[in-house]
Amino acid sequence: MAEKIRVVVIGAKGRMGRETVQAILKDEELELVGAVDRTLDGVSVSDVLGVDAGSVQFSNDVEKTLVETKPDVMVDFTTPAVMKGNIDKAIQFGVRPVVGTTGMTPEEIAAWDQACKERGIGGVIAPNFAIGALLMMRFAAEAARFLPHVEIIEMHHDQKLDAPSGTAIKTLELISQAREQMGQGHPNEHESIAGARGGEIEGMRVHSVRLPGYVAHQQVIFGGLGQTLTIRHDSINRESFMPGVVLSCKEVMKYEGMVYGLENLLF
Ligand code: NAP
Repeated sequence: MAEKIRVVVIGAKGRMGRETVQAILKDEELELVGAVDRTLDGVSVSDVLGVDAGSVQFSNDVEKTLVETKPDVMVDFTTPAVMKGNIDKAIQFGVRPVVGTTGMTPEEIAAWDQACKERGIGGVIAPNFAIGALLMMRFAAEAARFLPHVEIIEMHHDQKLDAPSGTAIKTLELISQAREQMGQGHPNEHESIAGARGGEIEGMRVHSVRLPGYVAHQQVIFGGLGQTLTIRHDSINRESFMPGVVLSCKEVMKYEGMVYGLENLLF
């Protein structure tokens, strides 16, 4: 049998990280070789997460883990503030980053693409690993060709740090490529409460709801004469992201450069 792909998970104690650990343990082609989180060092992954991860222990040191475990892939589900340094370190040590943490700029993605190519490794940055969400974005870009007036409402759990979501930004980028740039709404509209009309990218409005009870949800609403069209995706639990994460850990072994968006590996 072919050698397994060695994977470390950064942010492994978090909501997405622990789901990722379980998905890796279940997959026959992947091997969990390291787990990093901010406050855990030298304790058993099995004990903390209630899984069977053999002798793998938590570390709180990304660099040490990359050096000692020699992984092929580093999965990052941490925070916008620490993810950037982790990606830099992974590339420096020739480890392929698979990143679900959101909150980076196009310039940063371009720089990592260049760095990955120079190092001869692949990388994945995916604002959303759920296949249904990718289909939502694809259908939305198609709809925008015919119904160019569009607004997004995205709903997430109240512990999410960045707004709007990476998925909303990515959806708006895809829509802006599919439609002519245009203004929306009344030219003289005004807000009596600041922010009531939401954020704006190229005339399109985006509204971020943060409440307990939600996981990750998005509606893309198109308006036309006498009609509206709503394309909606719901991640009901975090398992929804795992087929995309597992696929990325395998596909990232096959090319050089940073791929931004799981759709580029799927469609
Ligand atoms: P979370 O539950 O807060 O998990 C983040 C974990 O990272 C926590 O355990 C945190 O530890 C740890 N951490 C913080 N700083 C660290 C550091 N310097 N080194 C190592 N670990 C560190 O967050 P989450 O809900 O899993 O989300 C994580 C990220 O994934 C967010 O950016 C979110 O938007 C994104 N996300 C992406 C997708 C996708 O499909 N791409 C889907 C869902 C979420 P402490 O709690 O002790 O600080």
